[in-house]
Amino acid sequence: MAPIPPLHIILSPAAWPQAPPEMTFSTLRTIEECPRRWALSNGEYPALWAKPGYPPRLGLAALSGDIQHKAVETVLKALVERKVSSLHSPEAVTVLRDLGGLSTVLRNCLERELGTWADNPRAACMSTWLHQQLEARLPTMRQRVQVLLARLPSVELAPGGIPQSAQSGGGGRLPLGIHPERWLSHPELGWKGKADLLVISPDGACIFDFKTGDPKPDHVHQLQLYGFLWTRDTRLNPSGMPPLRLLLCYDTRTVEVPPLTGDQIDLFERQLVEQTSTARQGLGEIPPLALPGVDRCPYCPVRHLCSEYWKPETQALLVREVERATSLPNDFEVNLFRRQNARQWDVRIGSSLWFAEEQWAVLRLTRAMDWLQPGMRLRVLMGSSPPPTPSDSPASEGGDQDSALVITQNAWTELYVL
Ligand code: SF4
Repeated sequence: MAPIPPLHIILSPAAWPQAPPEMTFSTLRTIEECPRRWALSNGEYPALWAKPGYPPRLGLAALSGDIQHKAVETVLKALVERKVSSLHSPEAVTVLRDLGGLSTVLRNCLERELGTWADNPRAACMSTWLHQQLEARLPTMRQRVQVLLARLPSVELAPGGIPQSAQSGGGGRLPLGIHPERWLSHPELGWKGKADLLVISPDGACIFDFKTGDPKPDHVHQLQLYGFLWTRDTRLNPSGMPPLRLLLCYDTRTVEVPPLTGDQIDLFERQLVEQTSTARQGLGEIPPLALPGVDRCPYCPVRHLCSEYWKPETQALLVREVERATSLPNDFEVNLFRRQNARQWDVRIGSSLWFAEEQWAVLRLTRAMDWLQPGMRLRVLMGSSPPPTPSDSPASEGGDQDSALVITQNAWTELYVL
């Protein structure tokens, strides 16, 4: 019998993670939403790869967003290097031309982004497909980045030119100029956050956050957090002056967010201390608490590892709550019954959002997997289930008459043995 590849085995972390030494906005949100999800995503899985955490699932929207972010960062860093003081200036056009144009910048960022995940075993079988899909999206990404950059120019980046020290990235007070991808921190609180762009002018600081998706209420909170960290970052901002402006830049519009001032800053800090402490406590148990919900489980990248998700009562809860969600993933837990041929199996449903337990189904694979054996219990994520045809029924080969369902593997489908 062929051994099951480690990636296709449902694993528990070899070591559960400790609470993070430094909190960030996305870490806090993930822990608040579901401590189990954070812990499963950040445990150690040496059987799979050498990096910390479970190999992430790559998605087109997230990858496109990261590529656009990196493209903006590349252009801004080139402007800083060449001491170009304004995105409006003719020199800025020259800088962009020297970079090979926006399309080249984006293509390079695409290659780099996919290169970072070259060792991700979860992405191996879809890397060519991802590459093709992202290539096809390059014109749209180019348009978005162009619009995003065009939204920045109202800011004169550094009147009188950017001082040399602005390029250093070293410690100490930040000088006048533009500072892309700048980490801000509040060490006493154990917090840090990376501002997409910080512009320091003689009047004060402006913080920009670039968003490639639709606006969400959380974006405002995140940017106010960056404003708070800037105010409390005694190393970069010894005066403790709050930022002058906070700007959320979408490809359709720019939203001005009011910075916190006076008592609001103290209140924000107290709330942050409380939230952080609650989140850390939530990671005290092993395994940490699972908080299933229709607004998080369908997008959870480690739901195949989460026993809570597959319980019938959780599946029923998600279906009940589905009116509040646009869709639920087509996930199935099935028992392999009989191999019809190298790429087709008769299976029985063990757990599913939509189909009854014990219902017969046919599992169609896009390629042969010789490690599959009768009697195995399999978790199938994101399978397609088109309307069934009578010929798919195991009844035609002596199976039960109630067979109706066909589960088909697609580019997004993942299979895991329990
Ligand atoms: S599937 Fe749901 S309950 Fe389980 S870890 Fe993910 S978000 Fe939490």
